[in-house]
Amino acid sequence: MKLNLFNSKKKKHISETPGYIDSDPAKCVQCGICSYNCPIGIDVRAHVWDREPMINTQCITCGRCIALCPRGVLQFVATDGLSKDTLWST
Ligand code: SF4
Ligand code: SF4
Repeated sequence: MKLNLFNSKKKKHISETPGYIDSDPAKCVQCGICSYNCPIGIDVRAHVWDREPMINTQCITCGRCIALCPRGVLQFVATDGLSKDTLWST
C-alpha cells in the first residue's frame, strides 16, 4: 500500500505521536523556514503569526518544523502525557 503524505485533499493524515505543535510567537522572526519544510504544506509561520496552536490541521507531528526553526519558537505538546522533548531537542 502506498502512503501519500503530500496530498492534503485526502482524509486526515495519521499523526506520528498524539499531540500538537505550539509556539512562542514573541521569538519568531517570520523567516518561513518552518512552512517551507513542512512535508504536508502547512503554513506553520502563519499559525505562529496568528498565535494559533496547530490543532485540527493535517499535521502529522513529524517534528521537522521544530528541528529546523533557528529561533526555538516551536514545541511539541503531548496529549498522551508523554514528551518528545528528548527526540526533538533543537
Ligand atoms: S522557522 Fe521559526 S522563526 Fe522562522 S517563521 Fe518558523 S517559527 Fe518563526
Ligand atoms: S510537525 Fe511536521 S507536519 Fe506538523 S507542522 Fe511541523 S513540519 Fe508540518
